[in-house]
Amino acid sequence: RNAFGVNTFTSKPLRMSTEAATEAETFEFTSDVGRVMDLIINSLYSDKDIFLRELISNAADACDKKRFLSITDNDVASAATPEIKIKANLDDNILIIEDAGVGMTKEELKNNLGKIAQSGTKAFVEALGQGNADVNLIGQFGVGFYSSYLVAEKVEVITKSMQEGSKQYKWSSTADSSYTIEEDSESDDPIDGSGTRLILHLKEDANEYLESSKIEELLERYSEFIEFPISVWKETT
Ligand code: ADP
Ligand code: MG
Repeated sequence: RNAFGVNTFTSKPLRMSTEAATEAETFEFTSDVGRVMDLIINSLYSDKDIFLRELISNAADACDKKRFLSITDNDVASAATPEIKIKANLDDNILIIEDAGVGMTKEELKNNLGKIAQSGTKAFVEALGQGNADVNLIGQFGVGFYSSYLVAEKVEVITKSMQEGSKQYKWSSTADSSYTIEEDSESDDPIDGSGTRLILHLKEDANEYLESSKIEELLERYSEFIEFPISVWKETT
């Protein structure tokens, strides 16, 4: 562990998913998601850094839920502290944030990443629309996931729920009006147990997030109080 409590590890070459055997289904985002995404992208572009805080906070929430559920069922194996890993693939401009948390079922993917659960959307849209571009509004209104599109042109969410018998799914969107979900059963990098792997295909102007020193700086600044271990890859030279 280095000075600010972040573990480092050497990132292995990434194995990319092979073509899935099942076909991807396409779903439309609800209209409030579209508006929120547009607003975030257009009014918070100078605060891109906050995407990491939001995604780490989601990863930690997922780990927290898993820990809670693991206490209630007495499965010792799943009671181990779930961790969060960040790695990059420089050749493909990809940043990956992976947690060993609760994961999501297909239904949860649609409900959590395809619509906005909280009723504050209108207030959020109004607040941001009035030029009140306070980055803290994102977290407050429960729309943090969409801040990934500040730095990514495409986001893939590979996930496997801890619910018994769950399959691995892949959610994908380029922040247009729709997203796809497909079964990811042919994956050559299956999620161990349960959890979520966010694959951010970075925009050209977001290359700085491929440097582990930049990521560590942001973790130190924004994610100081996360109570789960966070590992950051280390570039090999
Ligand atoms: P909030 O975290 O305030 O609910 P977000 O937009 O950040 O809003 O996330 C929306 C929802 O998506 C979360 O409430 C959660 O249900 C789901 N989600 C996001 N990231 C993850 C993750 N890493 N693991 C499991 N579920 C997640
Ligand atoms: Mg969140």
